[in-house]
Amino acid sequence: MRIDLHCHSTASDGTDTPAELVRNAAAAGLDVMALTDHDTTRGHAEAIGALPAGLTLVTGAELSCRVDGVSLHMLAYLFDPEEPALLAERELVRDDRVPRARGMVARLQELGVPVTWEQVERIAGDGSVGRPHVATALVELGVVPTVSDAFTQDWLADGGRAHVAKHETDPFEAIRLVKGAGGVTVFAHPGASKRGRTVPEAVIAEMATAGLDGIEVDHMDHDEATRARLRGLAADLGLLVTGSSDYHGSRKTCVLGEYTTDPEVYGEITRRATGAFPVPGTGGA
Ligand SMILES: [Zn+2]
Ligand SMILES: [Zn+2]
Repeated sequence: MRIDLHCHSTASDGTDTPAELVRNAAAAGLDVMALTDHDTTRGHAEAIGALPAGLTLVTGAELSCRVDGVSLHMLAYLFDPEEPALLAERELVRDDRVPRARGMVARLQELGVPVTWEQVERIAGDGSVGRPHVATALVELGVVPTVSDAFTQDWLADGGRAHVAKHETDPFEAIRLVKGAGGVTVFAHPGASKRGRTVPEAVIAEMATAGLDGIEVDHMDHDEATRARLRGLAADLGLLVTGSSDYHGSRKTCVLGEYTTDPEVYGEITRRATGAFPVPGTGGA
C-alpha cells in the first residue's frame, strides 16, 4: 500500500489541477493521496469528483503558521471543512489585507500621525486596501514627501515602526482549531533548514503536549541525519512519523510517491480523525 500524504494542486501553488493530480497519483501507483493545498480546501470537490477507482483521497490543507518569528507549515487532515472557527482562520491567512491595514493605521496613530481608517479607505477606492494606500495617506498628510519615503524602517517597511506582518496562525492555535474541527495535525518538514530558521525541539515538545499528532520525517528537504534525529524525537515524544512527496507538479522536482507513509501510521490518522472520512475512488464522474 503506497500512501502519499502531502500534495499540492492549482488550488494553491501546484501546477496540476485537482482532477489532474488525482489521475496522476493513480498513474503513479498510489493507493492513498492527501490533497493539502496552502490554507484552502477549495480543490477538494474537484479532486473527489475525478477520483479514479483504486485511489483513496484524504482531504486536508497545509496551514501557514508562525511561532516566535519562525514560519512553519502545519498539515491538517480529515477536518470538517465547514467548521466556522478553522474556516475563518484559513480565510484570514489567505486575505488579511483589511485587518493588516487597520493595524498599520493604529500603529501610526500611536506614533502621533493623524491618519484615519476612513482616509485610507477613500484612497483605496474600489481597489483592495493595502500598504501602498496607507503610504499614500502619509504623503497626503505631509508626513513623508513621496510614497517610497514611507517604505522605510521609520514607517511601513518590513519590520518598520508602523509595519504589521502578514497574518500567520500560531501553531498551538492551529492544533487546537484543527482538533476542534475533528482533524489531525502533522508538523510539515520541521527540519527544512534551507527554508530559514526552524522551530526548536523544545517547542515541538510543547506542541506534542498541546495535541500535535505527528511530524513529517521523510521529506526531500531533510537529509539522512535530519531524518534520524527527527525519528528519535518522534519516538521520545510519542508522535506519529509520516513521509510524503510535497508534490507541486512541474514547480518542483519531486515526483508523486517519492516518499510515503507507513500504512499503520495512516490507519492511526484515520482512527483519530472525526471531522471527515477518506474518500474511496469509484472511477470518477
Ligand atoms: Zn510546506
Ligand atoms: Zn507543501
